[in-house]
Amino acid sequence: MKLDVNMLRYLSKEDFRVLTAVEMGMRNHEIVPSELISRIAALKHGGTYKVMKNLLKHKLLHHDSSKYDGFRLTYLGYDFLAIKTLVNRGVFAAVGRQIGVGKESDIFEVATEDGTVLAMKLHRLGRVSFRAVKSKRDYLRHRNNFNWLYLSRLAALKEFAFMKALGEHGFPVPNAVDCNRHCVIMSLVQGYPLVQVKQLQNPEPVFETIVGLIVRLAEHGLIHCDFNEFNLMIDDDEKITMIDFPQMVSVSHRNAQMYFDRDVECVFKFFRKRYNLSFHEYTVDADGEDVGTYESNRLCFSSISKDAIFLDKELAASGFSTKDQEVIEKFIEGAVEENNSDTDEETRDDECVSAINEQNIEGVGSLHLQDEDEQTIDCVVAGEDNDTEHDHQAGESSVPLT
Ligand code: ADP
Ligand code: MG
Repeated sequence: MKLDVNMLRYLSKEDFRVLTAVEMGMRNHEIVPSELISRIAALKHGGTYKVMKNLLKHKLLHHDSSKYDGFRLTYLGYDFLAIKTLVNRGVFAAVGRQIGVGKESDIFEVATEDGTVLAMKLHRLGRVSFRAVKSKRDYLRHRNNFNWLYLSRLAALKEFAFMKALGEHGFPVPNAVDCNRHCVIMSLVQGYPLVQVKQLQNPEPVFETIVGLIVRLAEHGLIHCDFNEFNLMIDDDEKITMIDFPQMVSVSHRNAQMYFDRDVECVFKFFRKRYNLSFHEYTVDADGEDVGTYESNRLCFSSISKDAIFLDKELAASGFSTKDQEVIEKFIEGAVEENNSDTDEETRDDECVSAINEQNIEGVGSLHLQDEDEQTIDCVVAGEDNDTEHDHQAGESSVPLT
């Protein structure tokens, strides 16, 4: 399902208040009872029910009456909450075309008020692996599955925190602009994923830069864990930018060596196959320093001097804790357990009822998108009910906004 962001303009303050109420209720309900939504939103004259109907019509909510009458947010509803918050913060003013569909994300261009185009990544943790895990694992039968919301938010926070820290340490990553809920805003990388590049003018230096990045990451205590031709962007000058960080782990992780070897192996394999590079004896130069010799696909993890506390030091400041890292690692490894808190359900419901009044809920105001020539750009926001199959075709049913 797709829907144009034009609709954002027509959603009222009340609509957003009810969406926020559902989001709050989802902290401890898979399906939020209608009565609770009404209590949290506290609109006059029972107005919440009318609003819920409207949100349902626009597929921002999903209705479920199998156990009791209730609603949950759809991905689209969650997208709109994040987009609205970021637009209100002045981070961007318009949403443009979809530029990427990852395994667990959708990526769009967004434009700031002054016309700068940025990239917006909406995390969809749970779209692939959660379902795959769910079908395999028994224990999930007993857990609530509203965690996609929590996990997607955690993935976004992690990605933002890593991107920021890596950028500050001189790594070639997009500039981390802002983050809200499951949404990360970053600079737009010029260039293409390496997987799309059939030929390189200078494959050897590109290869060395890439392997050097793996080494430098390890020196900073990190392993990318998905370091491959899909997550490396290259521009016309053959400059590399790495992207996609939600799965990164520390070099102190118990499977660090395996993840490191896998990242290295991916690069070797790709360059061997795609660009016919042959490997005999190579000395890798990261930052001009000799870090050891590797032969064929062997790069010695143990000989790299690693700063294993980089994670704790740098990331805690961004609000991404070691505990968050543990939760997301468990999920990615397919072993996430229910994140139970000691607080009972009723207490948490009451907290939601009072918390909504502290939120600054506004309508989005005007949202428009124009390119440099003041021409209308097609605009779409992909949204979906998270029970339905995702439609991967970008640009379909796009609607001009001006
Ligand atoms: P996933 O985690 O779902 O794999 P990625 O972060 O790898 O998501 O992004 C998927 C695709 O979106 C990338 O392969 C790339 O084509 C595009 N993309 C992601 N971030 C950017 C960016 N900052 N600038 C330009 N394109 C991007
Ligand atoms: Mg990727």
